[in-house]
Amino acid sequence: MPKTTVKVPTPLRPFAGGASELSLEGSTVGGVIRSLTEANPALQRHLFTPEGRLRNFVTVYLNDEDIRYLQREATPLKEGDVVSIVPAVAGGAPSTSQESGRSPKLVGIAPAPAETFTRDELRRYSRHLLLPEVGVAGQRKLRQAKVLLVGAGGLGSPTALYLAAAGVGEMGLVDFDTVDLSNLQRQVLYSTADVGRPKLVAAKERIEGLNPGTKVVGYEQRLTSENALDILRPYDIVVDGTDNFPTRYLVNDACVLLGKPNVYGSIYRFEGQVSVFDARHGPCYRCLYSEPPPPDLVPSCAEAGVLGVLPGLVGVLQATETVKLIIGKGEPLIGRLLLFDALGLAFRELKLHKNPHCVLCSPNAPQKGLIDYPAFCGVPADGVAPAAGSVPQIEPEALHVELESADPPFLVDVREPEEWEIAHLPGAHLIPKAELADRVDELTRAPKLVLYCRAGTRSADATRLLLDLGFSNVRSLRGGINAWAQKVDPSLAQY
Ligand SMILES: [Zn+2]
Repeated sequence: MPKTTVKVPTPLRPFAGGASELSLEGSTVGGVIRSLTEANPALQRHLFTPEGRLRNFVTVYLNDEDIRYLQREATPLKEGDVVSIVPAVAGGAPSTSQESGRSPKLVGIAPAPAETFTRDELRRYSRHLLLPEVGVAGQRKLRQAKVLLVGAGGLGSPTALYLAAAGVGEMGLVDFDTVDLSNLQRQVLYSTADVGRPKLVAAKERIEGLNPGTKVVGYEQRLTSENALDILRPYDIVVDGTDNFPTRYLVNDACVLLGKPNVYGSIYRFEGQVSVFDARHGPCYRCLYSEPPPPDLVPSCAEAGVLGVLPGLVGVLQATETVKLIIGKGEPLIGRLLLFDALGLAFRELKLHKNPHCVLCSPNAPQKGLIDYPAFCGVPADGVAPAAGSVPQIEPEALHVELESADPPFLVDVREPEEWEIAHLPGAHLIPKAELADRVDELTRAPKLVLYCRAGTRSADATRLLLDLGFSNVRSLRGGINAWAQKVDPSLAQY
């Protein structure tokens, strides 16, 4: 039987013994995936539904081709083939005749009226003006362009800086956060003096300081189904720098409905994804991932960590694609998904197809408007997983009293070992959430349990799991170890 390399993406590596790739034997794609899950049973629920169907937020590639456009799981393998599992990360029918394998060229935004540049502007943009592909005509297009950045965080920071430097005339920013000290490791729009300030205020100062010719319009609100179409409508191009699935699907759907290109980027630990979704010329995000992952299957950046330079790289790639779309030069990343692995310093490119049955962008698409995205993704609008509201919880102060009592609860820390190193509660027992189901015997003798994590989301999920397994006296520490540090022990580090 031929030997195939199976590439395991970072989010799933903990369930495959930490391996990034495995060499497996099998004559079909389905065969090697079955060998993979047989050797690593914990992967089963991540890759397959309880009915045994490959989950919709997992896409499997044979070399650079999506198996849905080959023979799916029956696709035969030959020696040396590479099978890649590409799950959606927050933060994705036969090809139609119009697909010639080449990305369509875009025309750029409408030609600008022949305004002249001032002497200062000619000097500022001189290195662009020297490029025949940009020149005065391209620079005018940049000045006339309106770009909306959804999210002014890790991805939005470099994108905003480079687009302003390039001379983009108007930039909308959607963000309602304030600058936190933990943002500065990657969000290069902000400085230490900005900690505690609204991101939009600090970003506007920084961008207009870099280029007074760039007008910044701030939207200090969460993008919702109610406001998205109105916010996106005035812009030529939308750059998706969000960190959560509800907003990602909302941005995609609004762009499809309005007929605008969506410059997509996402990051996870050491890996990034970039593409340009433009349903007028190619696939949309839903053609790639018709459904989001269940909220408990893929951790967020806040839980998983991210290498600080990674959003820099991905954001600069998004800025590059945006500039190309504006000036109408080059081959945009339409119909292609670029994967970047910082640890291996490797780029790979996969083909994306327009799904002829896409619920949103196919000719007879059933969905004609925006939907309730938090419900679609199984998370409430505030981003807290649904389990948090529905499991027994304990406040930090009450836990403190119980721990001092004669009958203290058994404390379980469900975070990762790296987080344990930063800070942990005395007497706690470390069992990372992903290992909990396999290690419940360590807990069966404790008469009462309290679970905690960083901020209370993972421990709520873990509490739900234990309750479902038949445990009765289990509670989750509300607000996690960070709330404990705020309310009980200020000497403990928050992160
Ligand atoms: Zn689509």
